[in-house]
Amino acid sequence: MLLVRESHRHALHGGHLRTAAEVRKRYWVIGDVNVSRRVVHDCIICKRQRGKPVNQKMAEVVKLYPGKDDLVRVVDVRFADDIVVKRPVTKLILLMKGSERSDVS
Ligand SMILES: [Zn+2]
Repeated sequence: MLLVRESHRHALHGGHLRTAAEVRKRYWVIGDVNVSRRVVHDCIICKRQRGKPVNQKMAEVVKLYPGKDDLVRVVDVRFADDIVVKRPVTKLILLMKGSERSDVS
């Protein structure tokens, strides 16, 4: 495993076949492709390169609770899995639609 990890680094964090080829230059390891695949999968540097940006999960406001002065201070928000939670509007961030944004023409 250590030998394959070193070969993976020497192969400049190439894929599992590139790493296995690097191992085969000097050693014959039984099951080298599978070991290389595991080493590449577990490599932190490669994981960072493969990582995708996370999309923010948006919650939906499903119910407003207007006060006696008709100002809404509390709303029901539906999160994933249909969990509805009552939240103060100060904890929410209002997102504008694309046509309302000033930076989009
Ligand atoms: Zn790597």
